[in-house]
Amino acid sequence: MIKFPLLFKITVITITLACCSWGFLGHKTISQLAVYSLPKKLQIFFFKNSDYMIYNSVRPDVRRKDDPKEATKHFIDIDAKVFGENPFDSMPKTWEDAVKKYSEDTLRKYGTVPWEVMRLQEKLTNSFRNKLKDSILYYAADLGHYLADAHVPLHTTENYDGQLSNQRGLHSLWESTVPEMHIEGYNLYQNHKAKYLKDPLAVIWVEIRKSNAMLARVLADEIKASEGFTDATKFKRSERFGQVRKNYTGEFAKAYAIKLENTVNERLLESSKTVADFWYTAWVDAGCPDLSDLQSVTDEDKDKLKSEKESWKANELIKKGLLQSRKGKSEE
Ligand SMILES: [Zn+2]
Repeated sequence: MIKFPLLFKITVITITLACCSWGFLGHKTISQLAVYSLPKKLQIFFFKNSDYMIYNSVRPDVRRKDDPKEATKHFIDIDAKVFGENPFDSMPKTWEDAVKKYSEDTLRKYGTVPWEVMRLQEKLTNSFRNKLKDSILYYAADLGHYLADAHVPLHTTENYDGQLSNQRGLHSLWESTVPEMHIEGYNLYQNHKAKYLKDPLAVIWVEIRKSNAMLARVLADEIKASEGFTDATKFKRSERFGQVRKNYTGEFAKAYAIKLENTVNERLLESSKTVADFWYTAWVDAGCPDLSDLQSVTDEDKDKLKSEKESWKANELIKKGLLQSRKGKSEE
């Protein structure tokens, strides 16, 4: 049997674990919250299909296991050397222009999330236009996922897991462990009504820029939080099937969450806001089709939505057991 050095084994395991974006909790929460910001006609359609939408909000991450072309759609390493000193100025915004400048192979190597968003926005718009219920739900769920990923700072860098700054494991710490530990204390309400985006491509680039601007803090807070910790208290090691797994401890995750203040919460809300805006824009661009013949709605459904929104406004979704991502917690 070939024996691998211990360090290699740790590396392999951590990379495998760092693949998922926002974590299941984040994606499902973002999908549910986005619906509350939609205008009534669109809202009830998505609300009636919320089980599908929430369940499938993580489908693109699940797909990564079988489809080698999937991973690159979830991120953009905008700080890769090839994109120059000021990548947001030098990167052409459209796919066609970016391909001309950097080649398709290069773009796929460093990630394509802004263009995947635009591809799906077009698919969703066409699905609304043709009033194809299954397609609307399918593309809206996928679009929501990639939009949410673009709001994660570590999805905009080559140092996606802190592996280049000796902070390996940071990815799942920021987007999974921290929100899972603290979501009970999050504010999940925001007074946002979905707005029409005249230029969705510009909006996705603004969000990527914002995510990237947060990166320095995501890394620096890990260093600040490390004060007072030793290697033994900061990390836990476990062994499974002969492989050593190294992860941050719960104590360290708590200390890191304190340093981050409410930035993860804010990014979560910003994600759901953008998702609502993109869904709404696709519907408007399709001519605001009447979806009532695609989906039956009863008075009971309307009452259920109304009371759920009241709980949302009072930030009591979790307290009242209405946050779907929390309900499924024991199953994951
Ligand atoms: Zn993802």
